Amino acid sequence: MSEQHETVWNKCIQTIKDNVNPQSFKTWFIPIKPMKLEEKVLTIQVPSQFFYEWLEEHYVALLKKTLEKELGAGSKLEYNVIVDNTGAGTSRPYTVNMPTRNVTHNNKNEMGMPINLSNNIRNPFIIPGLKKLNIDSQLNPSYTFDNFIEGECNRLARSAGYAVANKPGGTAFNPLMIFGGVGLGKTHLVHAIGNRIKEISNTKSVLYVPSERFINQYVDSAKNGNYNDFLHFYQMIDVLIVDDVQFLAKKEKTQEIFFQIFNCLHQNGKQLILTSDRAPKDLKDVDERLLSRFKWGLSADLQNPDFDTRVSILEQKMYQDGIKFAPEVIEYVANKVDNNIRELEGALISLIAQASLNRKEIDLDMTKKMMKNFVKNSSREISIEFIQKLVSDYFSVSVDLMKSKTRKREIVQARQISMFFAKQLTQASLKNIGMYFGGRDHSTVIHACQTVNDLIDTDKKFKSDVDELTKRIKINTY
Ligand code: ADP
Ligand code: MG
Repeated sequence: MSEQHETVWNKCIQTIKDNVNPQSFKTWFIPIKPMKLEEKVLTIQVPSQFFYEWLEEHYVALLKKTLEKELGAGSKLEYNVIVDNTGAGTSRPYTVNMPTRNVTHNNKNEMGMPINLSNNIRNPFIIPGLKKLNIDSQLNPSYTFDNFIEGECNRLARSAGYAVANKPGGTAFNPLMIFGGVGLGKTHLVHAIGNRIKEISNTKSVLYVPSERFINQYVDSAKNGNYNDFLHFYQMIDVLIVDDVQFLAKKEKTQEIFFQIFNCLHQNGKQLILTSDRAPKDLKDVDERLLSRFKWGLSADLQNPDFDTRVSILEQKMYQDGIKFAPEVIEYVANKVDNNIRELEGALISLIAQASLNRKEIDLDMTKKMMKNFVKNSSREISIEFIQKLVSDYFSVSVDLMKSKTRKREIVQARQISMFFAKQLTQASLKNIGMYFGGRDHSTVIHACQTVNDLIDTDKKFKSDVDELTKRIKINTY
């Protein structure tokens, strides 16, 4: 009697086997374990939430028919989902009732599933069924090849990127590793590659992820017991773009999982695109095995832009903003800022702000004054209080609240942006900055800066807030 569920399931499995292709059968049906049979309800155990959702999405009709064939009308299937609490070493099975989908979804919520990865970043685990086309690529459409100015400084990286974009997984550049200092265009270039791939082929699933977010997702998945979903999800991507892999340093667990994902994708001819602020050989505290993988394909660096490229970049940005400055103004700016394209843009934004504030043409004299100030700003003479006050006015969040312990979203955001500017524009140490925000420690400040950088790259509204604040800071310190 006790073996009856097995007998029934074995019969079901025979039918199923004839109806799905061998690979799917192996992947989705072999791991299923029959648990019990009560009345006409067969309970089967599946390894994860992801698994259950996949079955429900793709095989529900087949399962239903098969079961009815064995047990007659009114038969039911119940799932026992193993919740894999990685680290905790326990598994909490829970049950979902297949034919009553509503209940199923309620259950999921009660279990805190599916995963909510991080507060303000859109969850890419948009499972059910994981239709590849539905994956949000997290690409910023405004970063394209068209507006990525070519110069000596980026020729190799750009053309390798272009080749990869036209044939993802099909060139020797796998992985493609783009490295170079801050503000030299790494993020822009990898988004351009991703956008081009999507443009050419709508069927490819492309995902852009800053490594910091990857780390958080992994940590959350381990905590919430949906580590398998995390792994499965990443192993199904066709083109995986991981930005700023230097942040994986010292994160051994995350490196391990990334290694696994890397291998799986690479073996299956999927494309990996990585960026780093330094050459692979200079990455510290990254596992040798992973480092050697990074070196498999092509590493191409972005160098400081030469003068002509700087001028072209400024001209393009002016064109985009519908603004024109005299050539000597442009040359002057291009001469002053020579090692960071983000700062070059910042200088231009300040000029545009000045122009609109004074309602007059910007001439060379004004530019010189402004640039003196700009350089002064970046040589850090603004106070933290000033930044706090300005950000507090902008978001209508009091400075006291910023210093308090509250974790309300708007306040956290104002706090993080203030920390970010404090780090950028003052000489205060991380510890010191933390002191100004209610005695937080240095790691909180680092985290804030990373979060802000991350959001600038991925969230348009957020970026425009930061740009506007940059403008205001520059104007106010003029
Ligand atoms: P990184 O990721 O290397 O720190 P980003 O990709 O964020 O740098 O680039 C900083 C800014 O400079 C972005 O606004 C980007 O659009 C711009 N930029 C960088 N390189 C170029 C380029 N070759 N042409 C046009 N804009 C560029
Ligand atoms: Mg970047």
